[in-house]
Amino acid sequence: MDTAALAELDRTHLWHPFTQQRDWEQEPPVMIERAAGCMLYDTDGNAYIDGVSSLWCTVHGHRHPVIDAAVRAQLDRVAHSTMLGLSHPGAAELAARLAAIAPRGLERVFFSDNGSTAVEVAVKLAYQFWQLRGQPRRTEFVCLRDAYHGDTIGSVSVGGIDLFHATFRKLLFETHHAEPGDARDMRRLLEQRGERVAAVIVEPLVQGAAGMLVHPQGYLREVRELCDEFGVLLVCDEVAVGFGRTGTMFACEQEDVAPDLMCVAKGITGGYLPLAATLTTEDVYAAFLGEHRERRTFFHGHTYTGNPLACAAALATLDVFESEGTLERLAPRIELLGTLLDELVAPLATVAEVRRRGFMTGIELTPFPAQARMGHQVTLAARRRGAIVRPLGDVVVLMPPLSIEVDELTRLVEITAAAIAEATGARPARGREATARRAQAAPSPRQLDAAPH
Ligand code: PMP
Repeated sequence: MDTAALAELDRTHLWHPFTQQRDWEQEPPVMIERAAGCMLYDTDGNAYIDGVSSLWCTVHGHRHPVIDAAVRAQLDRVAHSTMLGLSHPGAAELAARLAAIAPRGLERVFFSDNGSTAVEVAVKLAYQFWQLRGQPRRTEFVCLRDAYHGDTIGSVSVGGIDLFHATFRKLLFETHHAEPGDARDMRRLLEQRGERVAAVIVEPLVQGAAGMLVHPQGYLREVRELCDEFGVLLVCDEVAVGFGRTGTMFACEQEDVAPDLMCVAKGITGGYLPLAATLTTEDVYAAFLGEHRERRTFFHGHTYTGNPLACAAALATLDVFESEGTLERLAPRIELLGTLLDELVAPLATVAEVRRRGFMTGIELTPFPAQARMGHQVTLAARRRGAIVRPLGDVVVLMPPLSIEVDELTRLVEITAAAIAEATGARPARGREATARRAQAAPSPRQLDAAPH
């Protein structure tokens, strides 16, 4: 079927997530047909750098031979078998591998299949934990303003982005919102509500969907200390920041913090298959042990929880972290990304701020009228130049796969700078006109197709 026919099917039958369909139907959809490494290819053969890791998931690149082989080998054994009443080798092995690399004390692994469910599980575990521990008054949650933890009702309840969440306010349980990055505000809330609070939930170091809000150094550690002081559980949502995005395997490591519950998803399978996990301590786990009639069981579980194909992809992803020394190789690229952003992006007159931790980058544009959809315009301009980036409002996000090569990373930032300059009408950065001009005249996507990667 050709692209036009596929586009027609899309327009007629699909409903895309987080998308105003009226706008969507006006623009020709890019249909990604295949990928290799950090490049995506559409049905017309155009090539694009995957600048956001296919929604913050791809870690070692697309079609990595080790992960491909692991999934294929698993296909020859079994594609799916339930975790309810049965186990399987991949889940057991993966649980042990995750426990071994997670912050200290997180020994138990409860699988689910996406970031939102990992958070639902954490919220329900924390809530039930206090019931079981004889503190039934601890029913409330503290989260951060502008937090994002997923789209199911429980994870929306602990979220704080009005644009996404306000519509559903009446369906949500009540939570308390602390000012991000302000430990004094967290203390104030815990002093007021501490005895009622089951858990504090945070995205450690960087609030991704809020627009890559980077917390001040030491904040996470202070939140951990406050949770200890007030006897409250700490949930760290590592769905976005986990698996190397901030430069370490988990963001918590950077402040030597061990949460009571940790949620992971996205990068866990290298971006191959849906899988998530909620890790917790033996202390939390032990509270759920008892006679069947005592009803201490955690009555929760999804059909595809711990799917064997996904577990195989996750195990191979961890193997590649080791065999390729991914995190060690990442450090100089993180530095390069910083330099490129400083030279090409930050000086643009229409860039208000560049926020970054590791590979997680948010480029905030100066204010434009909302109807200009400037972040989206930048995305379209970047796409014409051969890179897929995705905005959060007027924050242009870059979050390439950890495996991105130096020339691809350079080209990604050059294209982004040129796209911002074009869409916003800013002059390219002074002193780097040559580089920016090169990106302005970037090879057509089809030429890029032939570029080494
Ligand atoms: N938590 C965080 C921090 C996230 O960024 C996201 C998704 N971007 C989620 C949870 C939800 O994950 P999913 O989309 O897989 O449900």
